[in-house]
Amino acid sequence: MNLSYDLHSHSTASDGTLSPRDLVDYALSAGVDVLALTDHDTTEGLREAAVAAEGSRLCLVSGVEISVTWGGQVVHIVGLGFDPQDPTLQVGLAELRTFRGWRAEEIGRRLAKHGIADAYEGAKRYSNGHLISRTHFARFLVDNGFSPDMRKVFKQYLTQGKPGHVAGEWAELDRAVNWIQGAGGEAVIAHPARYNMTRTKLRRLIGEFTEAGGVALEVVSSSHSKDEMFTMAKHSRDFSLRASAGSDYHGPETPWANLGKLAPLPDNAVPIWRGWSTEKAVAAV
Ligand code: AMP
Ligand code: MN
Ligand code: MN
Ligand code: MN
Repeated sequence: MNLSYDLHSHSTASDGTLSPRDLVDYALSAGVDVLALTDHDTTEGLREAAVAAEGSRLCLVSGVEISVTWGGQVVHIVGLGFDPQDPTLQVGLAELRTFRGWRAEEIGRRLAKHGIADAYEGAKRYSNGHLISRTHFARFLVDNGFSPDMRKVFKQYLTQGKPGHVAGEWAELDRAVNWIQGAGGEAVIAHPARYNMTRTKLRRLIGEFTEAGGVALEVVSSSHSKDEMFTMAKHSRDFSLRASAGSDYHGPETPWANLGKLAPLPDNAVPIWRGWSTEKAVAAV
């Protein structure tokens, strides 16, 4: 049977706009069979999603998207099918959220110096209080007329060299991969074509990731063009990695990244789910 997989999505536990329950309901209505909830640096939404998926035909895979600093830039590593109770993983994620908390306050202070008052409190109101991401600042800034839309606001305020940008160190690549593996999961490089890396640097990243125990590249992503998809499929074959597919859905406001509306994996890519038992995926949460 040909199942529909979407292995990259967000809920209100990080910077998505649907609650985990609503995300699961939407995935069901969109024809997704196997869904991974992969919130940034937290697994807090997994329980609610698992309860919502129970008794339905949806198979929920535990997931997380870990923020990593590698080669002087931020890289995202998705973890799939791990035990969310794993203490080492949870301590690692908690560290990242502590940094996030400090960074959010610092973004607020910098925006205040730039004449935008109360941005921290504003961003916090857009979050569920558990974790604040730049996306929450972006929504606050757009809704208060500081920027016309979600694309421009990042360029204007939240990226390198801009008033609300705060640099910092996230997890190390091999640590993030080890947390996932140590918890029984599989590590995937998220949206590899989005890092604006030269081919040489990207292949260095993939090499170090493979060396650390990573198993797949996200070949199909809403943020990849067709050409990028084929290029990433080739990189995955060259490194004997498998291929993952995920929309990176954040909610109905960003229709270009829609749940379950993914291109099929290229024929010559080996799906990460080859050999997965779907019952095991549910039991893991
Ligand atoms: P953070 O992890 O808090 O630094 O926030 C990163 C998140 O911001 C990403 O996961 C995206 O959801 C969002 N993001 C980053 N850059 C952009 C952009 N240029 N346009 C829209 N959303 C973006
Ligand atoms: Mn995000
Ligand atoms: Mn990402
Ligand atoms: Mn994501």
